[in-house]
Amino acid sequence: MKIIMLGAPGAGKGTQAKKIAEKYQIPHISTGDIFRANIKGGTELGMKAKTFMDQGMLVPDEITIGMLMDRIGQEDCINGYVLDGFPRTIPQAESLTKALAERGEKVDYAINVDVPDENIINRMSGRRACLGCGATYHITFNPPVKEGICDTCGQELVLRDDDKPETVKKRLDVYHQQTQPLIDYYKNAEVLAEVDGTQPMDAVFQDIVEILGE
Ligand code: ADP
Ligand code: ADP
Ligand code: ZN
Repeated sequence: MKIIMLGAPGAGKGTQAKKIAEKYQIPHISTGDIFRANIKGGTELGMKAKTFMDQGMLVPDEITIGMLMDRIGQEDCINGYVLDGFPRTIPQAESLTKALAERGEKVDYAINVDVPDENIINRMSGRRACLGCGATYHITFNPPVKEGICDTCGQELVLRDDDKPETVKKRLDVYHQQTQPLIDYYKNAEVLAEVDGTQPMDAVFQDIVEILGE
């Protein structure tokens, strides 16, 4: 099963993708997590990506597409995957469609997690991220057991540099300009499903399970 998560920054793509990966036993692939791991590791890719990410801009397609193609070519992706944060531009979507078509494959579901802009800024300022394992928390909606510490791996949680309100506004602009058109792209491909992302996390997941099947 090949699944794409669509939605604004902070809509809950990562939160839901983790649950999907667990239930359906497929890898969760987050381009944001891959970039952050590279930044942490001080790689050349990480240094390039950071300048864009810090400004709330997208990392250029030339860098992002190659990186994602390498990742989905790995052995654990044979039975599918859930992509979180890719594609984010029409050229990225077209590259993915083409790469899959060459193997007689396609995206099975594009799930749009719909959350209006008004809700996003609040969510982002309360988001706390674990750079160790990619888990995300929210200080009100999904707090860790021990404040500031990841339940899963015990590392310290951080407020991401790009989750500051000014940068979030910029990211929302970028989303509307470059990523929102993908909703129509996948509607035309007849794989789009929409869920109301303003519901509590478990209710959103219930709706997703109904789409994907038990
Ligand atoms: P969020 O989940 O809040 O939307 P992500 O972790 O997915 O944030 O992405 C963080 C940043 O990483 C983005 O603002 C962008 O700079 C970069 N990024 C992630 N995925 C992509 C992509 N597919 N194309 C370009 N840039 C990306
Ligand atoms: P995305 O990957 O789309 O950027 P996240 O999954 O990281 O979004 O969620 C953004 C923030 O909102 C996190 O702090 C997360 O804990 C919280 N969150 C996710 N889903 C919900 C929800 N349904 N209701 C309230 N808060 C949520
Ligand atoms: Zn962790």
